Amino acid sequence: MPETATEEVHPRRVLVVDDSEVESLYIQALLQPEFTVIVANNLIDFWANMAEEAPDLILMDIMMQEISGFELALQLKRNHEYKAIPIIFVTSLDQARDIERGFEVGGHDYVKKPFLTQELRARVRSALRLKNLEHDLRMRSVTDYLTGAYNRRYFFEAVNINLSYAQRMRRNLCIAVLDIDFFKKINDEHGHEAGDAVLVHFTQTIRDQIRKYDILARFGGEEFVIQFFDCAVTKCIDLLTRIRNKLVESPCVVGGRSMGYTFSAGLASLDEIAPVEPIERLIEMADRRLYQAKESGRNRFVSTAATP
Ligand code: GH3
Ligand code: MG
Ligand code: MG
Repeated sequence: MPETATEEVHPRRVLVVDDSEVESLYIQALLQPEFTVIVANNLIDFWANMAEEAPDLILMDIMMQEISGFELALQLKRNHEYKAIPIIFVTSLDQARDIERGFEVGGHDYVKKPFLTQELRARVRSALRLKNLEHDLRMRSVTDYLTGAYNRRYFFEAVNINLSYAQRMRRNLCIAVLDIDFFKKINDEHGHEAGDAVLVHFTQTIRDQIRKYDILARFGGEEFVIQFFDCAVTKCIDLLTRIRNKLVESPCVVGGRSMGYTFSAGLASLDEIAPVEPIERLIEMADRRLYQAKESGRNRFVSTAATP
């Protein structure tokens, strides 16, 4: 799964990987309570912790019985989900060649034993700071400034990954293209800033209804695209209907004035196209149906499954 912008900020979690229980407990004691420290002394625990604990940083021993830390680092760097997690090698191997190898396999830093407690803490802080900066930069480059929704570039990147996953696992995937009705009128009657507030309100209302693995992007102006993962068209229509109801229940309020608005949508699902066809094809289909929804009166959704 690709990353999502909804990643929560949690206390920084450090995973210590060392086949020696004594060593790992020692490091754990040094870093707590500033960091939440999880320990793995074998490969089974390591992969379980990677999946369940979502560490922000890994402190990795090199000479371990089951696998070398270098090899384990290579495996992590090849993994789309884990490759951004910084690895600091903590080891008694102190040859120049070992240090060089540590960086070659994607290590962020290399700490030789014995180390100073303050030094280890400072290096962990520094690595986490850099990781945060990288994350912020990345988010800025993949999201829309006004609404925080993903941009078109990220959408294609993420959906293409999901598409091959969905095809491999025989899961369905739906695309919905949404467009606010008579948006120009909102701008004309209430001003551009009120229009902006509506765009932010629309984004938030959609976000509150979709699930973690669904992806919302702003394609431009007042046009948005949602990728619904592993979801039948009828279920997607239910979700869009919930969004429509929410817009009535909690409309956008600007300067004490409530501004009701509606939207139209076109939907297309993966099982409507051949496996070789690209995602653009699905978006085109959804877009054509959006046009039909507009033509037939707006405030409605068009798919082959149903047209409420
Ligand atoms: P329809 O129901 O057919 O979709 O009509 P519409 O008025 O919603 O669509 P139209 O394409 O005619 O107008 C869209 C307007 O959205 C025109 C443009 O000035 C405005 N717009 C585009 N981007 C932004 C933005 O970031 N903020 C604001 N406030 N307005 C925007
Ligand atoms: Mg060891
Ligand atoms: Mg519009």
